[in-house]
Amino acid sequence: MRFRAMVLEKFNEPLRMKEFEVGELPEGSVLVRMLASGVCGSDVHIAKGEDPRTPVPIILGHEGVGEVIEVAGEKKDLNGEPIKPNDRIIWNRGIVCRKCYWCTVAKQPHLCPNRKVYGINMSCKDYPHLLGCYAEAVVLLPEVEVLKIPENVDPASVVIASCSGATAMNALDSLSEPLAGKSVVIQGIGPLGIFAAVAAKSMGASIVAVIGGSPERLGVAKDFVDVLINRRELSEEERRKKILQLTHNRGADVVIEAAGDSRALMEGFNLLRRGGTYLIAGVAVPQDPIPVSVYENLVLKGITLRGVWVSDTKHLVQAVNVVTSHESLFSKLITHRFRLEEVNEALRYVEERRALKAVIHFE
Ligand SMILES: [Zn+2]
Ligand SMILES: [Zn+2]
Repeated sequence: MRFRAMVLEKFNEPLRMKEFEVGELPEGSVLVRMLASGVCGSDVHIAKGEDPRTPVPIILGHEGVGEVIEVAGEKKDLNGEPIKPNDRIIWNRGIVCRKCYWCTVAKQPHLCPNRKVYGINMSCKDYPHLLGCYAEAVVLLPEVEVLKIPENVDPASVVIASCSGATAMNALDSLSEPLAGKSVVIQGIGPLGIFAAVAAKSMGASIVAVIGGSPERLGVAKDFVDVLINRRELSEEERRKKILQLTHNRGADVVIEAAGDSRALMEGFNLLRRGGTYLIAGVAVPQDPIPVSVYENLVLKGITLRGVWVSDTKHLVQAVNVVTSHESLFSKLITHRFRLEEVNEALRYVEERRALKAVIHFE
């Protein structure tokens, strides 16, 4: 069988359509016809060579939902259900080694130094080539964890669970106390920030405030966020006062950086209460250092600072549950749909922040 895919051959050059032949597959692998591929903000950086993990040539795209074409031998999903042709599935975009210290002793497999990721560090040079989601089909190797998803959910709504959704769940999962009754401030109103807001609210947070700069995005969020703060309308000091007003002058219990910009931390420290927790989840590529006052920002306030890197299996399962129980909301996030041959345009829309969530469709 032959399938088309959009390949990044050189950084900073447009992706080009190529065809790949798929023949016999290793036992336990699954050939999947793509139904929807998400265009992630990090794909824009990867295409420019800003992610140190990425080799070329590569088929980009690490968010996907598809329909099974063929299973080589037997394969079960995370619930123990056998995978069959025509099943709709999502999968864990990362493959970890299950042998290193992080996989076995520390039980933090998402930090596995041998982690391979579809569309990020798995080249299409060698067979079976189709290891990224900007393609008509993808080959899921035997190690890939898959999860069946319901037929009645729009696949485009679910792709967000692959990356931003799972990462948001990893961030919230890393808190040492339940969120019920807590105040949460989220910096950034892209897919990650919105996902974190929906999840925090459904986990019982008393106040979820989101700081963003786009009126359209704030409009989408208004149905499920308690407080929307447009940073173009309020100064940094006014934003801080607003958060203090909402939290009995303490500051937020939890601040989540979902802006993808280290500079957001300078504001975030001032929004946290003493003893609060700062989850840094949006920064995904190397950036310039920022000046932090260790005494004032960290020690004096007794802040817990946590970097959140990607996600693990359970976070994917949690994220899929969040999407399927709020489907109409997540379908509203998809502002742009493109065809596979329009991927370069889709990346431009995401880079220029014209799309909240852009999805490649294959019908
Ligand atoms: Zn991503
Ligand atoms: Zn490992």
